[in-house]
Amino acid sequence: MDCIFCKIVEGAIPSKKVFENEHVVAFHDIQPAAPVHILIIPKKHISSMNDVESEDWYLLGEIHSAAQQIAREQGVAETGYRLINNCGPDSGQVVFHIHYHLLGGEKLGALNA
Ligand code: 5GP
Ligand code: ZN
Repeated sequence: MDCIFCKIVEGAIPSKKVFENEHVVAFHDIQPAAPVHILIIPKKHISSMNDVESEDWYLLGEIHSAAQQIAREQGVAETGYRLINNCGPDSGQVVFHIHYHLLGGEKLGALNA
């Protein structure tokens, strides 16, 4: 399968990883939209929020758990951060391997910017 994030999971494409466990990998976004911009993904390929099957919902809990730890380690737990999932054309999703953006390190703009 030609998926850029699967290749990052496998290490075939380099990334600046900040977190990894059995289920989840997190790494710096290549085009940061904020001083802290981390992408958090499941190792399992799931195309989007629309494609999460019942046995995989726990992976979203794993992602949120990773986000809590990453926010602390990146120094934004207290100042605040945003966790965003884009799903489908209107959201601007461009990589079809489900991921959450963890954004922080500055006052963030309007939610629908
Ligand atoms: P989306 O719009 O799909 O929610 O966001 C995809 C994100 O993946 C974008 O913010 C983009 O900068 C990031 N991205 C795309 N290709 C790569 C890559 O090869 N490496 C990394 N680290 N980030 C990528
Ligand atoms: Zn994938």
